[in-house]
Parts: sequence; structure tokens; C-alpha cells
Amino acid sequence: MSRLPTPDLTHGDAGALYSEGFGDIYYSPDDGLAETRHVFIEGNELGARLGRGRLVVGELGFGTGLNVLALLAKAKGAPVDVFSVEGFPLPREEFVATQKRIAERWPEIAPYAERLAEIYPDPVPGFVRLEIAEGQSLTLAFGPVLEQLRTAEFKADAWFLDGFAPSKNPDMWSPEVMAEIARLTEKGGTAATFSVAGAVRQSLETAGFSWEKIPGFGRKKHMLRARLEEYADRPDPRPWFIPPSPALQGPVAIVGCGIAGATVARALKSAGREVVIYDPEPASGASGNPGGLVMPRLDAEDNAIARFYRDAFLYAERFYRGLDGVLDPCGGEKEMAKAKAESVLANGLWPDSVLSFSNGLMHVPRGGVLRPAEAITQLADGIEVRRETVSLSSLPADAATVIFASGSGFEAHQYEALERKLGQIDLFDTPVPNRVRTGDHYAAPLAERLLTGATYDPFEGGHIEVSAERTAINRQKAEDLLGAPIGASVSARSAVRLNTSDRHPIAGPLYAAPEELASAWSGLAKGQQKDYPPATYAHYALTGLGSRGLVTAPILAAHVAAQITGGVSPLARDQMDLVHPGRFMVRAIKRGKLSP
Ligand SMILES: Cc1cc2nc3c(=O)[nH]c(=O)nc-3n(C[C@H](O)[C@H](O)[C@H](O)COP(=O)(O)OP(=O)(O)OC[C@H]3O[C@@H](n4cnc5c(N)ncnc54)[C@H](O)[C@@H]3O)c2cc1C
Repeated sequence: MSRLPTPDLTHGDAGALYSEGFGDIYYSPDDGLAETRHVFIEGNELGARLGRGRLVVGELGFGTGLNVLALLAKAKGAPVDVFSVEGFPLPREEFVATQKRIAERWPEIAPYAERLAEIYPDPVPGFVRLEIAEGQSLTLAFGPVLEQLRTAEFKADAWFLDGFAPSKNPDMWSPEVMAEIARLTEKGGTAATFSVAGAVRQSLETAGFSWEKIPGFGRKKHMLRARLEEYADRPDPRPWFIPPSPALQGPVAIVGCGIAGATVARALKSAGREVVIYDPEPASGASGNPGGLVMPRLDAEDNAIARFYRDAFLYAERFYRGLDGVLDPCGGEKEMAKAKAESVLANGLWPDSVLSFSNGLMHVPRGGVLRPAEAITQLADGIEVRRETVSLSSLPADAATVIFASGSGFEAHQYEALERKLGQIDLFDTPVPNRVRTGDHYAAPLAERLLTGATYDPFEGGHIEVSAERTAINRQKAEDLLGAPIGASVSARSAVRLNTSDRHPIAGPLYAAPEELASAWSGLAKGQQKDYPPATYAHYALTGLGSRGLVTAPILAAHVAAQITGGVSPLARDQMDLVHPGRFMVRAIKRGKLSP
């Protein structure tokens, strides 16, 4: 179980917020904003660096978010990705109250404070990805600083080192932390801090930074500006999953306009990239269903899988609410045995506002019903969709990067035995539930009807048809679930899901020459420990979304888009590896099933 510690707060005069635990103030209500601007914005010389392409900023010590607010005000809408670590996050209520005070004190940053107050989550351990505005994201990493940095994969242009003072919070400034900061910094990237403590200078220097003392703010004589001179990348312990180098330029072709293609197209377009979607019949696959559930998968353990599905649900729910009326936020409940429910609630991953259990039901007030085809229309708005089929042997000549998001039409499988499963949903006229109910089937409201499904059968190819037999199954299951007779059949739809053997999605880069890599890594079959060459990549995939694609597509799209644009992924490294397209091939080699 991994609950986050809450900060021990007191309020001083004139709205000052103190951490009793660290014996320090968060910011000065007198000149806190001016100090932030001096130390972090000017300290990193961001005035001249913002607006020249995407800027990635890392931060230690998110606190009240004041530094991020100052950054957003300076950016004036320019693309920026912020990654900020906080070990003792303010509870949501406290954060919202603080933003209100900040907005009153400094009206010039009030719009940004209002936006942060709107999107700040109930803190949960791990990464929480928030979209601030078009092209601007904030990834909050809640938990111990070293642990959070070690799971991150990005290259920052600038860092705000803003932990409580080294004398009060040495963990934030340790040599190990600074080594991680160096790993996560672009060569020539900068870091700024109010502290000039000898230990901080030493840690920065050992990590590969040069530093200079520059005038500090107010009565502080000095502060530090550091620059990454040299960083010798440590060999990646899992070179087969090494993150790809970003493809910073050129148009991106997206194959498929289902929920996967549409979400990744939107994410790239928001990041300022030129995008073309190819699909002979947009939203004709699984995402063409009239309705689908946005409900969480609930795991008893705390591991990468549980965190991935939690993050996917929380992100999807926020994401779809940001579109225009595509999500019915009716809430939902899931039948669950008491022992399992207790384990889920005890794992520390879920905020109380998201899950509660009573009478054999796990209540999910933020669950809902999505109209996926409508979501796709909105997401693809303003993006060119060419009604063409694309295959591996006929890639668009003008695309610098290709993303395969072709659902069950995916062919670049690289040693994975994918399975296609036929599913059918049915609409009946009554009874119309007022929220989602799930067991081994589901019943949900959709446009004044009862939506129920979904059947699950092997698909061997051929024509996809609705069957009366499956309608009868859906009717019976809905009746069992709701304990009430089901009315007249209104309509039905069948479609095909693409499943992977481990049931997790595929999102990330595809190997450029899988046969060569398989040969280079063949020692894995015998467990040989040696320096294996890192993976090389061509193209990307976002598919294999199985039965949960409506929930997982938005966060996976943000992940793939970040890999292409050099932004910050919403996924921690173990989650990236979980969904890496190469995992099946690596597994096959390790099991001796793939000999060169
Ligand atoms: C019956 C059923 C019920 C479901 N219920 C839920 C639910 O309640 N909640 C949930 O989260 N998920 C649910 N799912 C799963 C979810 O619908 C899918 O995971 C998701 O829609 C897959 O999206 P996709 O974009 O990967 O694929 P698709 O939606 O299948 O889209 C693929 C697109 O690619 C195009 N394409 C294919 N090949 C090519 C090519 N060579 N060139 C160009 N274009 C190509 C196709 O025309 C299609 O438009 C359900 C699935 C089914 C079948």
C-alpha cells in the first residue's frame, strides 16, 4: 500500500502558507511571484527560450504551483510541457483555496490559477497528467523524489529546483537526485535554484553541470544557475525498450480513424504537428459503436499494471469531459466481492472521491457512457482525413512518421500472435437505467435507451454481422444484471476487438529491423548478461486496445505523441515498457521460441 503523506500545514498572517514538517514557507505573500520570476524564469533565461518550439521544464517541489503559474504567464500560450515532482502534495481543497488567494494577490496570473484549480486532482501516488491548454501539459509526479525521477523518461530544457531548503529537506538535493536530473536534461539545458549551498553545487557538478552564482532575489545575495555540459548516458538496463529519439519534424501519417487514430491525431495537432489521417471508412471499426463504457479496471495490487489502468481511466474521464457532450457522466457501479473490494480500496492508488464500496457494489461516480463515434468526429475536426487504405508496403510517401492505429486491421505485429474477438452490443427500449451497472456484462443508459453487452467470441474473418442469437444473450444477461424484464429490441451492432496475448495494449515505437535485433539479443534466451545493443525504431503503433480501448486510447495517444514530439509522456517507464510493441518479441527470445 502506498498512501501519500499529506503536508502539515498552517496559515500565517496575510495568507502565508507554512509547512510545519519542513519548518518553511511555501511562498511569500509579499513578493513571492517576483521571487519566482527572478529565480526560475529569469534564472533559466526563459524569456528568450519560450516560443521557439516545445519547451520541456522539470521542477522539484510543485507545492502551490506558483512557479508553474509564472511560467504559463510568461509562455503566453507557447507550447510547454512541465513535469513536477511533489512528495507532500496539497490536498485538493487546500490547493483550490491557495489558487484563490494567489489569484486575488496577483491578478495578472489569475486565469492560470483558476485553470490549475479546475484541473488539480485528488493526489494519488505516481504520475497524474493534466492538459492545461492546447499544447501545454503538466505531469505531476506524486511521491518520493528519487523514485519519481527514476521512473521518468524525457529530456528537459530547464529545471526549477525548488525543494524546501537543503538544510531542511536534504533528500531533494542529494547527489543521486542531481544525477537523475542530469539524465533527464538535454545537453546545454539549465537549472536554477535559490540555494547556493556547497552541497548543492557539489552535487550539480558531480552530475555534469557547470554552475555560476548570479544575483539572488531581494536580500539574498546569490542564487545558482547551472548548465548541463556533459552527460554520459548510462547503458539502459532494458535496451530493447529504450525510448525512441523524437521525430521532431515533418508530417505524421496516422493509419486508422477509430478512437486510437483520432486521439493521437488530436494530441499531435495540439502539439503543433502537421497530421494526416488515412482511413477508407472512419469510425467503422470497434469505435463506431453508438455507446461504450468509461469505467475503470480495478486491481487489488499496486503495480505498473494497476497504475496504468487507473491513470488511463482518470485521464480518459477528464479528457472526454473536455469534449462537447460526448460523455454522459452518469456514474456507475460494479458488482464485486467484498474481499476484492477491500483489497482494491486498501492499495492506496485511488482517491476516495473516485471509489467507494457498499452492498456488493463498487461505486464509481466518475464513470460514464461515451458516444465514441461523436468523440471521433470532434477530435478529427480540422484534421485532413484521406479516405485511403495504407499498408506496410504502401506507406504515404510524404510522411516523416507513420503511426499504425488501424484496430483489427493492424498488420505490423512483429512476432505477436494477435487475436480478433467479435463483440455485439444491443439497445433495448426499457428499462433505462440511471447509471452504468457492470458484472460480467453491462447495462447502461444511452439516449433514453438501455445499452447492453458485450458478447465475446472468436472472429475468424469474413463479414461482420449482427446475430439474433447474440441479441438473445445480451437480453438474458441484462435481465440477470438488472433483475427486471427487458423491453423491445431497438438496434444492435457488431464489431471486432484486437487483443494481445497479455491483454495489454500496444503503444510506442516499432522495431526497424526486428530480425536483426532478434539475432543481436539472442543471448537473452540463455539469460546471458552483457551489453546488448539498443533497439532502433521505424514507425509507431497504437492498437491492440482489446475491450478497453475507449478508456486507454487517450492516455496512450498522449504517450505516443510525446515520444514523437519530444514532450513529457504521461506514463512512467514501467508503464511504457508494459505497452511497448516490442515486448512480445523480447518475451519470445527469452523463452527460446525465437532462434536467429
Ligand atoms: C462490442 C464491443 C463493445 C465494446 N465496449 C467497450 C466499452 O464499453 N468500453 C471500452 O473502453 N471499450 C470497449 N470496446 C473496445 C473498444 O471499442 C476498442 O478497443 C476501440 O474502439 C478500438 O479502437 P481502435 O481505434 O484501435 O480501432 P477501431 O475502432 O477498430 O478503428 C480502426 C480504424 O482503422 C481503419 N483501418 C483498418 N485498417 C486500415 C488500413 N489498412 N488503412 C487505413 N485504415 C485502416 C478502420 O477502417 C477503422 O476505422 C468494445 C469493443 C466491442 C467490439
